[in-house]
Amino acid sequence: MDKKEKNLLFEKKFAFDVWDEATIKKCFDFCEEYKKFLSECKTERKNVSYIEQRAKDAGFQKLEHIGQADKTNFNKPVYSINRGKSIILAKPGKKPIKSGARIILAHIDSPRLDLKVKPLFEGEHIAFLKTHYYGGIKKYQWTALPLAIYGVIIKQDGLKVEISIGDKPEDPIFMITDLLPHLAKQQEEKKLSEAITAESLNVVAGSMAVKNGDDKDKDAVKKNLLKLLNEKYGIAEEDFVSADLELVPQGLARDLGFDRSMIAAYGHDDRVCAYAALQSTFDAKQNEYATVVVLTDKEEIGSEGNTGASSNYITDFISELLYLETGEHNENYLRDTLTLSKAISADVTAGFDPDYADVFDSLNTARIGAGVVMEKHCGHHGKYDTSEATAEYMAFVRKTLNTNKINWQTGGLGKVDEGGGGTIAVFFARNNIDVVDMGPALLSMHAPFEIASKADIYSTYLAYKAFYES
Ligand code: MN
Ligand code: MN
Repeated sequence: MDKKEKNLLFEKKFAFDVWDEATIKKCFDFCEEYKKFLSECKTERKNVSYIEQRAKDAGFQKLEHIGQADKTNFNKPVYSINRGKSIILAKPGKKPIKSGARIILAHIDSPRLDLKVKPLFEGEHIAFLKTHYYGGIKKYQWTALPLAIYGVIIKQDGLKVEISIGDKPEDPIFMITDLLPHLAKQQEEKKLSEAITAESLNVVAGSMAVKNGDDKDKDAVKKNLLKLLNEKYGIAEEDFVSADLELVPQGLARDLGFDRSMIAAYGHDDRVCAYAALQSTFDAKQNEYATVVVLTDKEEIGSEGNTGASSNYITDFISELLYLETGEHNENYLRDTLTLSKAISADVTAGFDPDYADVFDSLNTARIGAGVVMEKHCGHHGKYDTSEATAEYMAFVRKTLNTNKINWQTGGLGKVDEGGGGTIAVFFARNNIDVVDMGPALLSMHAPFEIASKADIYSTYLAYKAFYES
C-alpha cells in the first residue's frame, strides 16, 4: 500500500514486533512476578490469601460486616472476602460511586480434580483417593501426571487443617495411573472421550500396610494411611466430609521456548486476568470513577453457588460502598450505580492453533502474541447463553484501547458450529450493565498446563489499567 494512503485495513500486530526494548523488558519483568503468583496460588483459597495480603500491603481495609460499616465516606480503598473463596477490592475515584464504577470481573477457580467426600479406598494393596472432576477437563490429560494436593479440612469443632503437599522439592506427589501401551489395544481403540472414565480418575496415595495389622485385612493400607493422617493432621476418615481438597498439576509456572516469549503453567484460565486486574487496580492513577475488581469462584462450573458470579455477594458489596458513601440504604442508588457502570468480563479465550486449524475461523480467532483480545460476545451456536456488548459499548472500549496505544485484537472461540463457551459476562449483564469480554488468548486451554504469550499477559494488564483510568 502507498505510504501516503491511509491504511483502511484492520490487521493484527504482534506486540513483540512493534514494542521497543524497554517495553519488552517491562513485559518480561511483569511476567516474572506473575509466574511466582501462579506457582504459589493454585486454588481459589490460595488466590484469596495472596490477594488479601497484596491488598493490605497496598493500604486496602477490610469491610468486615455487610450492613454494619461505619458511616464514613467511601474514601479509602476497601476489600471484602466471601467464604475464603472470592474477593472484591474497590478503590474510590474522583467522582462518587453513585456516578457509576469501572468494574473488572475475573475468576480464580480453574479446572481440577476434587476429592470426593468419601475418597479413600484400597485395591490390591494400593490405597487410592477417588476424585470428582471440576470444570471442563479432557480426562485422559490427567493420567500419569504429577499432582499436588491443596485445600482445607474443617473439623467439626471448626478447627481448620490446611493441606499443601506436592510442590515443595521434598514433598511426595500423587498420580493417577494409565494403562501400559503393551496392553492398551482395546483402550486405544476407544473414543478419546471414553477411554478414561471419571470413576477411573483415582489417585494413588500409598502402598504400605499398617504395622501389626492382620495380613488378611483387605484395608490394611487404607488403615495405615488413616493412621498417618491422624498423626500428622489429627483427622479421621469422617473429616473428609467437611473438606475442600483439590488435586492440581504439580510444578512451577515456567518460561516456554528458546526465546522465553511464553509461559506454560497450570491455571492461566483465569488467574492471568485476575492477576492483571489486581495489578491494574493498584497501579491505576487519577481514576475518575471508582474502580472495582471482583475475583470470583465457580466460573468453571457455571457460576452457580454463593461464591460464584450469580450470587448476590457482588451487588451486596456495591450496596455497601453506597452505604459508606451516602449513609443510607437506598435501592435506587444501587440501580443507578449499576446502570451507569462499565464492566469488563476478564477471561481468556482460544488462540489459533495451526495443529487444529480446522476448528477455527481464521479471520475471527485471536493469535497468541497479538495483544489482549476483545470479544463482542461468547456463547454457542445461535449466540445462545451470552451477553453481547452493544456497538456503542464496543466503540467506547475500542477508543480507550486505541487512545492508550494498547495492542489489541478481536477473537472468538472457533467456528460457530464447532461448539463454544461462556464467561461470567452473562451473569453481570443481568444487572443492566455494559460488559464486554477481554483477556489474553491461550493455547491448550483447560489442559493441565496452558500456554500464554508474555506479550498478551502484559497487554492485558495495560488494557485493564487504561480501562480503570478511562
Ligand atoms: Mn475462564
Ligand atoms: Mn475456563
